[in-house]
Amino acid sequence: MFENLSERLSGVFDRLTKQGALSEEDVKTALREVRVALLEADVSLPVAREFIKKVQDQATGQSVTKSVTPGQQVVKIVHDALVDTLRGDEDPGKLKIDNPPAPILMVGLQGGGKTTTTGKLAKRLKDRDGKKVLMASLDIYRPAAMDQLAVLGAQIGVDTLPIVKGQKPVDIAKRAKQQAALGGYDVYMLDTAGRLHIDEILMQEVEDVRNVVDPRETLLVVDGLTGQVAVEVAQEFDDKIGISGVVLTRMDGDGRGGAALSMRAVTGKPIRFVGLGEKMDAIETFEPDRIAGRILG
Ligand code: GDP
Repeated sequence: MFENLSERLSGVFDRLTKQGALSEEDVKTALREVRVALLEADVSLPVAREFIKKVQDQATGQSVTKSVTPGQQVVKIVHDALVDTLRGDEDPGKLKIDNPPAPILMVGLQGGGKTTTTGKLAKRLKDRDGKKVLMASLDIYRPAAMDQLAVLGAQIGVDTLPIVKGQKPVDIAKRAKQQAALGGYDVYMLDTAGRLHIDEILMQEVEDVRNVVDPRETLLVVDGLTGQVAVEVAQEFDDKIGISGVVLTRMDGDGRGGAALSMRAVTGKPIRFVGLGEKMDAIETFEPDRIAGRILG
């Protein structure tokens, strides 16, 4: 669907005279192509601009290695800069879950993959780290969502908090906290209600729950295919609730993953995991290298 950036760039450099170092003009010409590639990959315009500026300074004057073409060299510089921007400071897959029971708050819009991701992470914590996990659904608006979590729990062998009708999200959160302590759980995960759009009531509700449990991690789950919308959602949740990381779902789709770069650049929050399908083990720790490769096509 997209022309590979390396191919595009070798085309650009074929037209340029061979020189010992990348001149400002060469780099500018090449970065115009990179900018198009970033925009096609759904990176937002301001982020693409900023990124190009950074790379421009790095690339100009670099001597061209004999073993690669100038085009390949620019691609490598861009690739490394992408990885550098995408990488968080810490190990993205390492959740802060010492001092049991550790609360993890799962937030996001409806349909983003929140419940599925809650199940996936619970399974991962159980299977990989041997943790005893409790999951609770706070989605009082959609009884089906509560049932969905219970079904997932049974499927993956993770306990879910018994459903009590008529309770408010804050009360369910309190009950989960109590049950997690009494039952000797290492982690309890709260799957909050999502809405189709961000609204005041949703935010207030999540904020109240956050204040009750003081989560060790607040993970925002967003559909990685929604590009700019995902970035706006992340910004809003981070402003109002404060998130500790992002899970990008549907990365098994054919999106180019540019949202990851915008998300990181705009919110400064690390991407922690990527969802790669509907199955309960279709989740991986975020790897900047892979996404960088995908953005560049
Ligand atoms: P929620 O409303 O945010 O809780 O969303 P759900 O967890 O119910 O997910 C909505 C739909 O997206 C379900 O059909 C999931 O199976 C699907 N889904 C979730 N994560 C992924 C993913 O990483 N890849 C794909 N292909 N589908 C996903």
